[in-house]
Amino acid sequence: MVSKKGSGKTGKQLDAKQLAEKLCNKKKSGWDGITAAAERDIMAFAEDYKRFLDDSKTEREAVATIGRIARRSGYRPIGEATKKDTKLFLNFHGVSCVLASIADPKKFANGFLMVGAHIDTPRLDLKGAPLYEAEDMAYLKTHYYGGIKKYQWVTRPLAMHGVVVLENGKKIDVVIGEDEGDPVFTINDLLPHLAQDQMEKSARKVIEGENLNILVGSIPYNFKPESSAIKVNILKMLHDKYGFVEEDFVSAELQLVPAGGARDVGLDRSFIGSHGQDDRICAFAGMRALLDLPKSDKNVVMVFFDKEEIGSKGNAGANSNLLELAVAEILGNYGVTDYATVLKALRNSKFLSADVNAGIDPEWAGVVEKMNAAKIGYGVCLTKFTGSGGKSNSSEAHAEFVAQVRKAFNKDGALWQTAELGKVDHGGGGTIAMYIAEYGMDVLDVGTALLSMHSPFEVASKADLYHTYKAYKAFYKYC
Ligand code: MN
Ligand code: MN
Repeated sequence: MVSKKGSGKTGKQLDAKQLAEKLCNKKKSGWDGITAAAERDIMAFAEDYKRFLDDSKTEREAVATIGRIARRSGYRPIGEATKKDTKLFLNFHGVSCVLASIADPKKFANGFLMVGAHIDTPRLDLKGAPLYEAEDMAYLKTHYYGGIKKYQWVTRPLAMHGVVVLENGKKIDVVIGEDEGDPVFTINDLLPHLAQDQMEKSARKVIEGENLNILVGSIPYNFKPESSAIKVNILKMLHDKYGFVEEDFVSAELQLVPAGGARDVGLDRSFIGSHGQDDRICAFAGMRALLDLPKSDKNVVMVFFDKEEIGSKGNAGANSNLLELAVAEILGNYGVTDYATVLKALRNSKFLSADVNAGIDPEWAGVVEKMNAAKIGYGVCLTKFTGSGGKSNSSEAHAEFVAQVRKAFNKDGALWQTAELGKVDHGGGGTIAMYIAEYGMDVLDVGTALLSMHSPFEVASKADLYHTYKAYKAFYKYC
């Protein structure tokens, strides 16, 4: 059917080009024709983001960073807050957190505008009994966390981040490998000269999970040829510096992540390269959107979840009652304690599931259907459903909600595009959306496209980062 406006029945007849201009949905590059001032804004925003990435290499560090930034912006930990406070920070187990900006406690039953991202990321975790000696070298065993291509993690400098909790409850923070003078760690690979058999293996088997062992030393204690003298020496060094013993590895969360900071990528510096951008890019954009929000009459929330990369389970993931607890605590701060209002607030909320998508990589274009895949630099991705094989295991957003959200984005000039993860029946992926939708609220996936997702060096467009921020802000302002 031809639309009445374009049918030529009224006024002058449009030519095909004019008609296309009027009717066709066009994608637009975030760099195309922008002013020098707009480019400066994009670049400056990316500088803040890189700092955030460098300060937030684990979910615990991310919570600490968010807490610090929020405090500077007038947020108070809920334990210290009174009814008069309108900006609240909620910390769950040190690995998940929530920011809430309350404009009107009387409107709680109307729900919140919420954006939710995750701050955990694929990496290598130390096992509970990690340390061993082989061929007069000491190693630490790891168990990888999340979906990684294991071969990407060998022969690169790795840093160790995390905490060790002693039996007496004392918590020791560990960061090794980030300062210029620090040693780093690494996982070795086989030299090509002797890799004939290895090179015949499938990518899944080239480096196997049990081969992901971290090189940590080779000097024996007192130079005695006793067995385990190297292991003992490593334990001594850890004990001297941090005061923990081998059994304490059991109650530790020590992660190996790529050493070094986020970097600009490309001669024109249009990209950011870093580990952990899934999903800290959405976490940062959402946090900044909330903090930069002009005075609003809406109750708005930003949630930062843990454990998304391993299925959102556990008491800090989206598939727990963390969101419900958070909302109950927020309402409780203002004297609203009945469960019915908590449930009503949840049901009436609107939620953007803020997680990354895959950008089209020309080297691997065969896995996507280009009309419905994300173009790098073309703005934030609006993903109506995730899942795989007939949208299985996804929470598909209702058309009405998608219309509201896109209207808000358009109103504020946030550049957006639709994106599905891959061709139909070519795999897929999930987000936290379906867990949040269980409360009855409207949920839509909106996030940034990445290249090399889940790798030690993920790449994002600075324009996409900026428009992700603009999009979340528009949602908070207008939905
Ligand atoms: Mn993610
Ligand atoms: Mn992921």
